[in-house]
Amino acid sequence: MLNFNDHLAVAVSGGKDSLSLLHILAKMKQYRSKTTLTAVTVDEGIAGYRNEALEIAAENCLKLEIPHHIVSFKDLFGYTLDEIVQKTRVKGHMELTACAYCGVLRRKAINIGARQVHANKVATAHTLDDEAQTVLMNIFRGDITRLAKEKPVTSEVHPLLVQKIKPFCQIPENESALYAYVKKISFQDTPCPYASEALRNDMRWMLNRLEAKHAGTKFTVLRAMERLRPALEETASKEGFMTCVECGEPSAADLCKTCEMLRQIR
Ligand code: SF4
Ligand code: ZN
Repeated sequence: MLNFNDHLAVAVSGGKDSLSLLHILAKMKQYRSKTTLTAVTVDEGIAGYRNEALEIAAENCLKLEIPHHIVSFKDLFGYTLDEIVQKTRVKGHMELTACAYCGVLRRKAINIGARQVHANKVATAHTLDDEAQTVLMNIFRGDITRLAKEKPVTSEVHPLLVQKIKPFCQIPENESALYAYVKKISFQDTPCPYASEALRNDMRWMLNRLEAKHAGTKFTVLRAMERLRPALEETASKEGFMTCVECGEPSAADLCKTCEMLRQIR
């Protein structure tokens, strides 16, 4: 995943996983003088939640002497997540949860943030749990393209797309949490007010129950996906990668998902 001279944009939310990753990469950097790290935090604009996370992320960056770059939904897309939720509820568009908007917009914001700091890779703290949940979510949604494309090291090619790596993809979430506790890392432990709406929560609950009863289930999901992916990629790659006609960013169709959502909100 890593080359000696990488400039990594580390996606830091302020939670335990992303801060454990930031601390581990900072430690690694001591032995790799040519590696550059910049923390990138997305401010979605969630009242009573994101400000605390931003402060905690900033504190950790200061302590580790890592530059901290913040990108906000409001600056990039014209609305905070709270405003988007408010607008969609008023208009009666109830089919998408706050997390569905947040996920699409945040992926784009992180990519733009990484470009702004001139990073060549984005490192995210997705754990084994996140990866197993994502596999199941994509199956439950019937999204085979995403199922093929979501992998520990992305290979999508577009001049504006920064490569994504997931160094924690084989680390169970409770081990990443344990690291944060053992190292006395300060992190935000209040959950996002929208979290209960997420499909991911149901997947988490289901996988945790299965894991408790049948140890190794999460690894099995990850391994099964690794074996299935080559076959799926053949189909997915035919769909290609384009440039959005509205924002000029990488897109799977003429109009990217973000612009499609923003049009609907407007
Ligand atoms: Fe965004 Fe949902 Fe995560 Fe909250 S729980 S930060 S709304 S994806
Ligand atoms: Zn677009």
